[in-house]
Amino acid sequence: MRLIRTEKEVFTLEGVPLPNEKLLDEVAAEVVVCTKCLLSKTRTKAVPGVGSSAAQIMFIGEAPGQSEDAKGEPFVGAAGKFLDALLSGIGLLREQVFITNVVKCRPPRNREPMPLEVKTCTPYLDRQIRILQPKFIVTLGNNSTAYIFSKVNLSFTGITRVRGEFFKASLLGMQVVIFPTFHPAAALYNEKYKEQLAEDFQLLGRELKKNMIG
Ligand code: SF4
Repeated sequence: MRLIRTEKEVFTLEGVPLPNEKLLDEVAAEVVVCTKCLLSKTRTKAVPGVGSSAAQIMFIGEAPGQSEDAKGEPFVGAAGKFLDALLSGIGLLREQVFITNVVKCRPPRNREPMPLEVKTCTPYLDRQIRILQPKFIVTLGNNSTAYIFSKVNLSFTGITRVRGEFFKASLLGMQVVIFPTFHPAAALYNEKYKEQLAEDFQLLGRELKKNMIG
């Protein structure tokens, strides 16, 4: 189909805006064949993201791990089960939110993504954010919080200092609330982080209720 593209929207030749689902599918189709950085050489499957095309909340992690790389879906291993439990604790299903990562392909041996990989890959994430226009963005861990904070000119000094707080900001021309917390994988084997992550989700749940989201 021939389309007209502006920075924010995509239209058919008849001037009809494409629905979010189609726009997200377009991003996903590009991600699964992307070879823009060296992670494409070592990945099994790229992991574009999953969830509702009408989601008002986005959860952004760092990068796919081993299970995600094998399946092509984010948060499907032990950390994913933990995330599902946290979501269900505040009355949400993963089908109601959108879950993705800063970097869409698994870094070898789960190392942190390199700055160039983040720079090369994040235009996909930015497109997903523009399409969804979420009211809340929950950043999971240091890398995704650092990336989103950098986009809104907030200084980032580590997840333990900013977790559990709501930051109102203008991101890509939209008003959003950013809520940083620990990455579920980091909290899995650390009881203190686990408790704090659960507390953060309860706080998030109350705020979402106040805003009639969920
Ligand atoms: S990490 Fe991102 S930029 Fe690199 S190959 Fe995968 S999808 Fe492309």
